[in-house]
Amino acid sequence: MNDIKEKYTCDACRYTFESDKLPDRCPDCGKLQVRRASESEIYEFEHRFDNEKE
Ligand SMILES: [Zn+2]
Repeated sequence: MNDIKEKYTCDACRYTFESDKLPDRCPDCGKLQVRRASESEIYEFEHRFDNEKE
């Protein structure tokens, strides 16, 4: 089985996160404004962690 996760973004707080299914609520702010992340948001998400390498 593949462990492929979609990326979603909350329109209320702009929090982008990975999940294997669309959650009802944003895990950050709890609002019901979660949608699929756009390509640019996915790009930002994937590069968000670049600075954490040491
Ligand atoms: Zn949110």
